[in-house]
Amino acid sequence: MSKEKIAMVGTPCGIMAASKIQHYTDSPIYFKIGLFCMENFSYLYFTKLLKELDLTMDDIEKFRIEKGYAFFNLKNGDQVKISLSKAKTVVRKNCNICVELTSETSDISVGSIGSENGWSTVIVRTDKGEKIIKDAIKHKYIKAKELTPSQLKLLERIASNKKKANHENIEEREAKARPVLYQRDKTDENIMEEISESNFDDLRANVINVGACVLCGACEYVCPEELILIKNTKPRKKRKECPPDCHNCFAVCPRTFAPVNLRNDLNKSIGDYKKILTVKSLKHNKGQDGVVVTTILDYLITKGIVNQALIVDKKEDLSWKPYAKLTKDIDEIVKASGTKYSVCPVFKPLKQLKEDVI
Ligand code: SF4
Ligand code: SF4
Ligand code: SF4
Repeated sequence: MSKEKIAMVGTPCGIMAASKIQHYTDSPIYFKIGLFCMENFSYLYFTKLLKELDLTMDDIEKFRIEKGYAFFNLKNGDQVKISLSKAKTVVRKNCNICVELTSETSDISVGSIGSENGWSTVIVRTDKGEKIIKDAIKHKYIKAKELTPSQLKLLERIASNKKKANHENIEEREAKARPVLYQRDKTDENIMEEISESNFDDLRANVINVGACVLCGACEYVCPEELILIKNTKPRKKRKECPPDCHNCFAVCPRTFAPVNLRNDLNKSIGDYKKILTVKSLKHNKGQDGVVVTTILDYLITKGIVNQALIVDKKEDLSWKPYAKLTKDIDEIVKASGTKYSVCPVFKPLKQLKEDVI
């Protein structure tokens, strides 16, 4: 058993990778807070879009999506607005085959859809998640009430629309012999057979080179030979042979076969859960987005339930370029709160804690 206990915050694809890491390895990930995620943007294509608008990344102070538009707040105080459909032209290709809105393999999932301003929707999925939310209420970190039927309906409708649209994209891609392995219906026994015959070459052919990679960094994290490199773009492997008995990267990738207990059920718009609440922080108020996530992390660290949190922050001078880090500093967690519209290899910092895998 790993001595470290880490709380992780991630998008549904990152949380799926974390769940597979937990499934196949002795992992320090103890508590998973999944975020709601509609889509994410390609850093590379976004830079090109900015060029069309006569802007560069350095000009951007803040980026947000609201009511059918994407807004850029510039460092000089100006604001530039483009239609959401224009912004969607730079959505990462892999997001078009993603059937999860609400992080279905998390302990708790958090997002704004369904809740009024200042509150967040929290889907409690596991016994651990239920206990932590109950205790955080008892210790006055958060307050919670039931989601109303109409709030729940709204969340289910949006999640179901994403599932349906992207499932159609998956079928289209499979028909053109572009594999989408993670949605294939296989027994756990079959999956273990597939894994035992696969290595990075299969990951490259079936995920990376067909636009399915979510750039989570799980493959890089579990590679015992340090052969995988992820910089700004897709994972690459050093020119060195893999040991014949290693299949780690293929096993944990969120876009290879998912074990039965982790597979997304297309008939359940928001996955399995124990309860759904709408939650308000009683400890933090800085920023609307992420304040409940910040508060839960504060609770977990302050009460010694986890040692550190794995979070995604943005650099001061590059507001659009996120990076992952481990921290136990509540001020840092508060500072990092908020939506990130681009992805980064979230598991990278865990390499410093790496013990045995698979
Ligand atoms: S694949 Fe894209 S849409 Fe799906 S969870 Fe990841 S970032 Fe979000
Ligand atoms: S050594 Fe293992 S984890 Fe690393 S690239 Fe090869 S198969 Fe993947
Ligand atoms: S190939 Fe690596 S970085 Fe890409 S989705 Fe799979 S595990 Fe994540």
